[in-house]
Amino acid sequence: MTLTDREPDCETLIVGAGFSGIGAGIALDRAGLRDYVIVEAGDQPGGTWYWNTYPGVAVDIPSFSYQFSFEQSDSWSRTYAPGRELAAYATHCVDKYGLRARIRFRTTVVGADFDEERRLWRVIVDSPAGRAEMTARHLINASGVLTVPKLPDVAGVDSFGGHTMHTARWDHGVDLRGRRIAIIGTGASAVQVIPEIAPIAEHLTVYQRTPIWCFPKADVPLSGAARWLMRLRAGRAAQRLVSQAYVELTFPLAAQYFTVNPMAGRMDAAGRAYLRREVHDPVVREKLTPRYAVGCKRPGFHNTYLSTFNRDNVELVTEPIDKVTGSGVATTDGTLREADVLILATGFQVMGTDNLPTFPLTGPGGRSLAGFWDEHRLQAYEGVSVPGFPNFFTVFGPYGYVGSSYFALIEAQTRHIVRCLTAARARGATLVEVRREANDRYFAEMMSKRHRQIFWQDSCRHANSYYFDKHGDVPLRPASTPEAAWRSRRFPIDDYAFTT
Ligand SMILES: Cc1cc2nc3c(=O)[nH]c(=O)nc-3n(C[C@H](O)[C@H](O)[C@H](O)COP(=O)(O)OP(=O)(O)OC[C@H]3O[C@@H](n4cnc5c(N)ncnc54)[C@H](O)[C@@H]3O)c2cc1C
Repeated sequence: MTLTDREPDCETLIVGAGFSGIGAGIALDRAGLRDYVIVEAGDQPGGTWYWNTYPGVAVDIPSFSYQFSFEQSDSWSRTYAPGRELAAYATHCVDKYGLRARIRFRTTVVGADFDEERRLWRVIVDSPAGRAEMTARHLINASGVLTVPKLPDVAGVDSFGGHTMHTARWDHGVDLRGRRIAIIGTGASAVQVIPEIAPIAEHLTVYQRTPIWCFPKADVPLSGAARWLMRLRAGRAAQRLVSQAYVELTFPLAAQYFTVNPMAGRMDAAGRAYLRREVHDPVVREKLTPRYAVGCKRPGFHNTYLSTFNRDNVELVTEPIDKVTGSGVATTDGTLREADVLILATGFQVMGTDNLPTFPLTGPGGRSLAGFWDEHRLQAYEGVSVPGFPNFFTVFGPYGYVGSSYFALIEAQTRHIVRCLTAARARGATLVEVRREANDRYFAEMMSKRHRQIFWQDSCRHANSYYFDKHGDVPLRPASTPEAAWRSRRFPIDDYAFTT
């Protein structure tokens, strides 16, 4: 046997043990494609819910929708589960579906190169044991999209003399009681953390660049009757149906079908009415009022975020930040506000070629995926695969996500991937690659439909929204959740070339 004949270490390597990696592993097992390994940088599963442990972290959509359709929990404590319950749910799925032995924790992929001769991926991983190479026929990227924390583009952040922490890397050793806290950012994480820390801080200064639309959420503990219902098949089905309809109406139908949905435009008025009700000081209220349409940017959902700005110990600063100094934050009007703790609620690198995936990926001919996307704009066939990058699939890819529950995305995209891998196995193929014409057709279809999306309203230009990439595209799928699910079942398998 020559070196080139050797089998890869595993048939499929999955990067990431968040819900995408967990969902991919379960889907492969169910299809009988059991020769896979999951590598995970953290030391527990759960991804988002393992890394984000700031006070108040929770889902923004009802828990009845934020779970696998085939593994509906009967133990959510609230309609919107807190982060620790999501982390526990991830652990439950890993153990129940026998994934734990397949996961290599504390193992970070730092690069992947396609070996054309052997038709496999050479994946370089760092772990406590050192740097090593793993080989796999197929590579599934489940490294997430809200994964790599973004630091503010502000001078002097490193020079701050007190404690600094990003919301996605919360330091529970820092006691916030009676401290002067500065928080930069008012995105979805800030909406959750600000109401939690304001009551314990001596003073909280919130530095806002762009206000966020915030809406109340029906976040209540689940009553005995509701929990009883969750244990009945019919009760679970009814709860899920209502929840799915609510999620579909509030995001995909509002944002993806904005121009044809008469209800969508009413959200701004509802958001303004809520601001009037919650924020007493008209000057503060004005500062908190977004100048862009609801949906241009991910909104927040919280029952006390806006009213937190009525507190005497909370100050909203909208003057741009000049720099961070050793003792606090200086704004361009020359004011320096001192602080003991600096919290960076500045989100994640999102629609960028350096986080999709989180490691450099080089296909045949030395072509980098980042380079392909820089040149051709973000695109992927059904949001899953890219021409020129055989045996590579991604759970979150350009024009895959409609914006409803992430679990709907995971189930649709892993179904797509499993169809490809099953077909490859049936044909004895060692190379699976989406045809360029199929990808071009899909991309053209996305472009022809995107005018329906809310993102092309003039006001979205003022939103500073992470939905937009550097080309000005919004790589979200202009479709509904059922359509995306249907297409994952029905796309023509011959849109892929299989080489034996
Ligand atoms: C605070 C917050 C609230 C959210 N709320 C909602 C919500 O209400 N509804 C919703 O639908 N979505 C929500 N999301 C989006 C959320 O990210 C997804 O729902 C989902 O958890 C993503 O799962 P994932 O597995 O794709 O990615 P992640 O959960 O990010 O998991 C990716 C995993 O890959 C690992 N990884 C990354 N790179 C590497 C590498 N190079 N090598 C090895 N391992 C790697 C990471 O350590 C991580 O564990 C929220 C996100 C955040 C941050």
